[in-house]
Amino acid sequence: MTALLSEARDILRRTFGHAEFKGMQADVIAEVLAGRSAMAVLPTGGGKSLCYQIPSMMRPGLGLVVSPLIALMTDQVAGLQQSGVAAARLDSNVDPQEKAETWRRVDAGELDLLYVSPEGLMQPWMLERLARTPLALIAIDEAHCVSQWGHDFRPEYRMLGRLTELFPEVPRLAVTATADARTREDIRAQLHLEDSAEFVASFARPELILSAERKRGGAHARVVELVKARSGRSGVVYAGSRDGTEKLAEALRAAGVPAQAYHAGLERGLRTERLETFLQADEAVMVATIAFGMGVDKPDVRFVIHADPPASIEAYWQEIGRAGRDGDPAEGITLYGASDMAWALRRSGEREVDEAVKQAQARKVRQLYALLDGTNCRAAAVRRYFGEEAVEACGQCDLCSGTVETLDATEAAQKALSAAARLGGRFGRGRLVDHLLGKTKDVTAQESSLSTYGIGAELSAVQWRDLTEQLLFEGLLREDPNDGRPLVGVGDADAVRQVFRGERRVSIRKPPEGAAGRKPRKRGADAVSATLSPSDRPLFEALRAWRSAEAKTQHVPPYVIFHDRTLTEIAASKPGSRAALEGVSGVGEGKLARYGEAVLAMVRGFLD
Ligand code: ADP
Ligand code: ZN
Repeated sequence: MTALLSEARDILRRTFGHAEFKGMQADVIAEVLAGRSAMAVLPTGGGKSLCYQIPSMMRPGLGLVVSPLIALMTDQVAGLQQSGVAAARLDSNVDPQEKAETWRRVDAGELDLLYVSPEGLMQPWMLERLARTPLALIAIDEAHCVSQWGHDFRPEYRMLGRLTELFPEVPRLAVTATADARTREDIRAQLHLEDSAEFVASFARPELILSAERKRGGAHARVVELVKARSGRSGVVYAGSRDGTEKLAEALRAAGVPAQAYHAGLERGLRTERLETFLQADEAVMVATIAFGMGVDKPDVRFVIHADPPASIEAYWQEIGRAGRDGDPAEGITLYGASDMAWALRRSGEREVDEAVKQAQARKVRQLYALLDGTNCRAAAVRRYFGEEAVEACGQCDLCSGTVETLDATEAAQKALSAAARLGGRFGRGRLVDHLLGKTKDVTAQESSLSTYGIGAELSAVQWRDLTEQLLFEGLLREDPNDGRPLVGVGDADAVRQVFRGERRVSIRKPPEGAAGRKPRKRGADAVSATLSPSDRPLFEALRAWRSAEAKTQHVPPYVIFHDRTLTEIAASKPGSRAALEGVSGVGEGKLARYGEAVLAMVRGFLD
């Protein structure tokens, strides 16, 4: 290990309380310490922030961090200050007096880290000021926002391409958790990092237990059921519309769940208030649109449920990835349907962008549904999508653990496809099912004389609907939107022919047994009590209550003080001295000085 890197590790230990670098952290940090620019793609929870925080502390000058969201900056700066790091932020929420003080500290060379928004940074007066300030590095967080090939394009990120010419001597570090190969290439081109090293870690998130199921009638009821089965834990439920979040939150509250809605249509003060409640609570459910997410670094989110499916695999991984940031087991559950897919495809077609971008987006939609409705390991599918090779099955998703059973339905598919062909694309899904069952209301003589009328007695209406969805997912049937009253017709001709010849098999899922469906499995169910023995639990709860009170007085989220994981370790190991407490992961010098005595006293109280 070079001298610089071992100094970096000392900071990791002393200031942040972690014993060793994890994943690619050491490689990325070494590159930046050598004064070179780089791009790092590390999974959520991979410890991206230390990759720029530690070099900012070590290199002379100010470390600038460009971040897309105020909430993200607020949390990181609060966390750094807790650890005794000289960090500040400049954003529209900071009052003028504090701004002046921050600039004074910048000029005096007292600050190690300054967080700014992209549009804030690129203002001429700001650039002018920074031109006179020695800079340690410029970090671009959530760098995928720069690319229109990504899933979260922000036009204001485009301006960051100018940083190369403005600060040619300053190393730049672009970091992100989600970017497929094409997006990565675009990030490098936009930010002029073509000649810089690229660090791409595995996208594996072994703590995430994935599952997905098709929506059935009464999707709200299913979400309520899933959330209730996970009571006592914090979670996020994503819904596709503002109205959807309100209704679902109401349904959850009616079922006794502490749930709140969150979307961009809410007044700002209310949004902040709800966000704070969520962050502060040890048990809370946020029902949100995707306006809620980036920058929500609550580490103890134990489940993310998509009541409506995400927009792409990138979005899926990022949204599900908000669960289990602390590394403890967490669940990602997705509900989806063929009509969601049709809607997403239509929307991507209506965007006012280049034809090539449209096509890329439509492909992203299809890849997502292939993953959701697929029959092979979900985690492996995501990792392959991001370009990982030699990926093994996770062994714990619903598909790996065999909770999804399939039936061969090729013959039934042939019937449905011929019926759709004979009906000539003039009717919707319901009518197609009625036709197969021979139950069409007010049937015309012409329809009842078709050879496909009533040939489907072997399946129930529900099963036919399932099969129709399957055929839509596979592109064997196609739906014409017809202004919200979609009509079903035959899809890809070659593929349909293969089905008729029996060269292509079609299988459907057996519906989950019983209304409750799967029970949450033990691993995801209660991570904390799984790793804590019952006798240590009271101390853990007491530490949590202390942390909660401390967080309230300081107006910071509890995890800024200590993560659950750190409290769990304290409750289990019961350190008897400052030195022992410092050995716990997540306890650095700053926090030891602040909270050491209080924590040790509580531990002693439990030992007496
Ligand atoms: P990301 O931004 O990549 O999602 P963070 O930088 O927020 O991740 O870090 C995620 C969690 O991992 C934080 O709780 C952080 O304290 C912890 N962490 C970071 N580096 C290490 C390390 N080397 N050892 C142990 N924990 C670490
Ligand atoms: Zn799996």
